[in-house]
Amino acid sequence: MAPSKGLVPAADLQSFTEYLSGCKRVIALLGAGISASSGLPTFRGAGGLWRSYDATSLATPEAFQRTPGLVWQFYSYRRHMALQAEPNKAHYALAELSRRNEDFITLSQNVDGLSQRALHPSKQLHLLHGSLFDVKCTSFYCNYTRENDFTDPLVPALDIPKMASGLHPSATDKTGEEAAKAIHNALGTGEEVDISDASNPIPHLSEDDLPKCPKCKTGLLRPGVVWFGEALPEKTLSEVDRWIAAGPIDLCLVIGTSARVWPAAGYVDEARSQGARIAVCNMDSNDTPGELHFGDWFFQGDAGVIVPEILKGVIGEI
Ligand SMILES: [Zn+2]
Repeated sequence: MAPSKGLVPAADLQSFTEYLSGCKRVIALLGAGISASSGLPTFRGAGGLWRSYDATSLATPEAFQRTPGLVWQFYSYRRHMALQAEPNKAHYALAELSRRNEDFITLSQNVDGLSQRALHPSKQLHLLHGSLFDVKCTSFYCNYTRENDFTDPLVPALDIPKMASGLHPSATDKTGEEAAKAIHNALGTGEEVDISDASNPIPHLSEDDLPKCPKCKTGLLRPGVVWFGEALPEKTLSEVDRWIAAGPIDLCLVIGTSARVWPAAGYVDEARSQGARIAVCNMDSNDTPGELHFGDWFFQGDAGVIVPEILKGVIGEI
C-alpha cells in the first residue's frame, strides 16, 4: 500500500532529522512539483498546450521575434496565474531553513515567483530558469533589467479580458447572495475570460501595446525567463559552482523534480561527489535522480505536506 499523503514513516523521519540537525552545507533543487502543490500548471515540458499552441513553441527567442504580442499574452497569463496562487508550506519551510543556515542554498527551476513571495532570502536562492517577474530589455545596446516586479498587468493591453455580463438573476436561487453576485458581475467586475482556451478570442497586439524599456525608451521589454535554445544565466551558474567547490556538502534535497535533466542532474552528481547524502521528495516513487544509495532518503507525497514535516525537527512548525 502506498503511504498516505503527508505521512512520513517514523524511522525515516527520525534518521533524517538526526542527520539534518548536524548538517552544515546543504543544497536544495526545486522543480515543478513544489509549484503543483500550490495548484500551478507549469507548461514546461511536452504536452503543455496554451490556446492552440504547444507552450514550448512560445518559449523561444524566435517566437518572440515573430509574434511578441502573442508571446507576451502567454507570459502575462502565466504571471497572472502565478499571482493567483499562493506559496505553500514547502516554500515557507525552505525560506525558514535558509534564514537559520546561511550555508544552505536553493536552486530552483521554477519561474513562478513563489519562493520569492515566501520571502526566501534572495542571496540563497538561485533561479536557474529566471523568473516570470523579471523583465529585461531586448535591445542589443541596452542592459536594462528589473527584478521581482509583481505588477499585473504590466501594461493595460495585457489585462485579462472580463466576461461580458448582464443581470442574470437565478431562477431557482432567490437569496440575496445570488442577486448581489449578479449585480457585481453586471458592474464589469465579472469573471475573467479563460484566454488559455483557444475558443475565447484575444486581441492582436502591436509592439506599441507592449512593455517598453524605461532606460533606452526604444527597446521592447521581454520576460526574464530562460527560453529554449538560450543559455542558463551565467552569473547564477558561476555562483553555484563556487559554492559547490567551496567544501564538502552534507545534504542534497531534491524536491518536486526527478532531476534527471541537465543542469539539475549534474548538481545532484556534484553534491554526491562532495560527500552529500540525497533526500528526494516526490509524488511518484519512480522520480529519482538515478539510483538512490544506502543512506539516502525517499519521501513520497505532496511537497507542500512532506517538506515542512521533514524539516520540522530543525525549523519548528510552519
Ligand atoms: Zn533598453
